[in-house]
Amino acid sequence: MSGVASLRVTVAGGSLGGLCAGVALRGAGCLVDIFERTPHQMTSRGAGIVVQDDLTSLLQQNNAPTLPTTSCTHRLYLEATGGQGKMIPMPQHFTSWEAIYRTLRAVFSDEHYHLGKTMTDFTNEENYVNVLFADGQTCSADLLICTDGIHSKTRRRLLPDIHPHYAGYVAFRGTLPEGAADSDLVNFFDERFIFCNARSGGHILCYLIPGDDASIERGKRRLNWVWYVHVKEGADLTALLTDSQGQQRESSLGPGEVPQSRVKDIHTQAEQELHPQFARLVQATPDPFVQSIIDVVVPQMVFGRVCLLGDAAFVVRPHTAAAAAKAADDAASLATALMGSATSLERALSIWEQRQLETGRSLTDYGVMLGSRWARAR
Ligand SMILES: Cc1cc2nc3c(=O)[nH]c(=O)nc-3n(C[C@H](O)[C@H](O)[C@H](O)COP(=O)(O)OP(=O)(O)OC[C@H]3O[C@@H](n4cnc5c(N)ncnc54)[C@H](O)[C@@H]3O)c2cc1C
Repeated sequence: MSGVASLRVTVAGGSLGGLCAGVALRGAGCLVDIFERTPHQMTSRGAGIVVQDDLTSLLQQNNAPTLPTTSCTHRLYLEATGGQGKMIPMPQHFTSWEAIYRTLRAVFSDEHYHLGKTMTDFTNEENYVNVLFADGQTCSADLLICTDGIHSKTRRRLLPDIHPHYAGYVAFRGTLPEGAADSDLVNFFDERFIFCNARSGGHILCYLIPGDDASIERGKRRLNWVWYVHVKEGADLTALLTDSQGQQRESSLGPGEVPQSRVKDIHTQAEQELHPQFARLVQATPDPFVQSIIDVVVPQMVFGRVCLLGDAAFVVRPHTAAAAAKAADDAASLATALMGSATSLERALSIWEQRQLETGRSLTDYGVMLGSRWARAR
């Protein structure tokens, strides 16, 4: 390796993992190009994310603008039967997928961020990687970083025996603009991170997040809720993951894709299962979405000059609030390993892989432990 500054890096996948990798490695002096298969800007998608230090450090170290965040001062634990619940002081910050995406994009040049580019193949040569895209374009790089997400085709190809494992429950999720909610409902949820066990198991939580265009102005934020519900694998799960057009989806349905009959069921279930304020919140959300909870643990993240990063490697449960932070940590650690091992790319990747495998394993274990804790509490 002739030094990290001259390293040509191709990143396949331009969501948060790909952007964290791009920003961190460019900050280390590499020449980075990011290729994202989605043809248009992805700013108006995604829901809430709890802010973690790994992400804010990466942003600060790379001179990113301030991440738009909301905050709470307390946690409140409610019971489905109603009542005031139990409040404890616990300040926390929240953001949205869109706010993180915009902040990362602000420090990664348009010239090197390529939309509508699907990587279809790569070959690991001795001293470089050849990458092929769906439109026939090819490029060669010193390092290929695959950040192609939870259903990564690269992971399937490199680790064919590793399969996502369904955890036995799903998250119904929703966001509701403050302006579309009654003011007393907004006041109830504002400044607090609120949890409630559901009557037949599972639980729901809510916090406020930035609104459209990552706005944090009062009146423009969104209420963000996540409701964990047990769903048996097989016919029940298959039916739940069938969208409004009758198409069977792999693991999630986005806003507007859940059939109206199912939205009605979710609203009815909320009345039966949740604290009255949470029932109101869910019922006021016209377009809830569904995400099945899965675990992925990989035994390897480096394959010659190809690496898996973010959800393409480990998939951790949302209770850890760590998916975006893990992507940031993967990216920052890779930059550090490359800068600290100026003579051998192989050695730098090996140091990085060892560290990130440990981090990934401990985060997935932590998520499984948190998931089983509330499953036992039923
Ligand atoms: C649109 C969107 C919204 C999200 N919203 C939330 C949210 O609200 N809350 C939350 O906690 N998490 C959300 N996530 C997931 C979150 O981004 C990840 O869990 C985490 O940040 C790690 O990101 P990742 O980049 O590794 O994977 P992902 O975010 O899944 O990104 C993978 C990216 O790779 C692209 N891609 C896949 N195959 C190819 C290919 N062959 N060539 C080029 N590009 C390819 C995909 O289009 C996608 O943009 C969202 C993800 C996406 C894509």
